[in-house]
Amino acid sequence: MRRSRHAKIVATVGPATASPEKLRALYLSGADTFRLNFSHGTLDDHARVLAAIRALEREFNRPIGVLQDLQGPKIRIGRLDEGKLTLEAGETVCFTLGEETGGKQSIPLPHAEIFAAAYPGQALLIDDGRVRLVEKLSSEQIVARVVVGGVIRDHKGVNLPGALLNISPLTKKDRADLAFGLELGVDWVALSFVQKPSDLIEARALIGEAAGLVAKIETPMALDRIGDIIDLSDAIMVARGDLGVEIPPEEVPGRQKELVRACRLAAKPVIVATQMLDSMVAAPTPTRAEASDVATAIYDGADAVMLSAESASGLYPIEAVVMMDRIIKSTEQHHLYRSLIEASQAGEDMTPPHAVAAAGADLAAAISAKAIIAFTASGTTAVRIARKRPPVPILALTPDQNVARRMCLLWGVHSVVSGDPAGHDEMTRIATNAAHQQGFATPKRPGCRGVWAAF
Ligand code: PGA
Ligand code: MN
Repeated sequence: MRRSRHAKIVATVGPATASPEKLRALYLSGADTFRLNFSHGTLDDHARVLAAIRALEREFNRPIGVLQDLQGPKIRIGRLDEGKLTLEAGETVCFTLGEETGGKQSIPLPHAEIFAAAYPGQALLIDDGRVRLVEKLSSEQIVARVVVGGVIRDHKGVNLPGALLNISPLTKKDRADLAFGLELGVDWVALSFVQKPSDLIEARALIGEAAGLVAKIETPMALDRIGDIIDLSDAIMVARGDLGVEIPPEEVPGRQKELVRACRLAAKPVIVATQMLDSMVAAPTPTRAEASDVATAIYDGADAVMLSAESASGLYPIEAVVMMDRIIKSTEQHHLYRSLIEASQAGEDMTPPHAVAAAGADLAAAISAKAIIAFTASGTTAVRIARKRPPVPILALTPDQNVARRMCLLWGVHSVVSGDPAGHDEMTRIATNAAHQQGFATPKRPGCRGVWAAF
């Protein structure tokens, strides 16, 4: 099956979509890569979903990408007396290091790193910033004044914007989840709350080449070191949920544009994520502002856009994918799309392999070729061509099934597992056969301009 759009859809699987029937419907509606969110669900749940996705691959004879999203060192408060607490603006409360259930004068915060990194005047945000406190003292206890009040509940998340926490990006749970995911054969592993380049090195040591490594950009610390983080990752996720808590909301759009541009410059795939069609969690149609948000990511040239709660736990998961697919197609067909996507093209870094790919893309566009065919063992040739965002589909042929699956995240790439050509003639034969079989070109049809192969 050939998708008639360039940008890809990542759909998060959850209770609303974990059944084989729902996964099939998500795939048929447009999901190219499935995200398994290891912040939720049991290992058995994830294993069943992965098996169902691999069954779909066999049914449709198409590679499908699977992204394992590790929970990461998300900081949470412990348990509260009666399960919740109402904090009033202006009052003073106290956080204590430990697991004991507590009240206003002993809100449990079982993370020593927080007590080490916090400084007087630091903002402490609870539940995605719904409750804000400013800290007055820092020791074994944190005394804080409530700035914005509200109800907090057991295990709600805590953010300390701007604090570099001395924590590994991989908790004990992440390490166990990662081993499980690699054993299952996930294609991508996403690292949450990346703070510094060495976080990627730590993860890479465990993953090796078994899966692509995605750095989720959701802290100001990561933004400060973004160049090195992009270099050390195989892809980037603009994780606007936590990022938008850690930095002011008005800075998120500009940061998104910077990140997409930096990834395109570095030839690394980039996913724009979170709240894209958020109102579809509860309604069958999105707000027009949400439709515009998806379109913006497409005009910026993102490789993929992502659904989270919309497809994992919402009431309209299939409709959300259908809607995202429609918005992408409509945007890509708009008469301003080409000029906008080219305007957002960053200046190019022209090493010889990039120059070959760019020339191939330009030539294919100039002659209105049916497809650009890339033989790629590792996927990098396809990345280099995709980076040019050519107006011609990219048919990426690889002997490696894992590489084909990983390419399901790449802008404009239709990946296929095919034989490894021994020589030039065989390469041409495999390329033309694949173009025909995959529906990109018809042999000997008058007006058919043939295919251009990039190697
Ligand atoms: P999450 O990551 O859904 O795992 O929190 C995405 C984000 O923060 O945007
Ligand atoms: Mn997050």
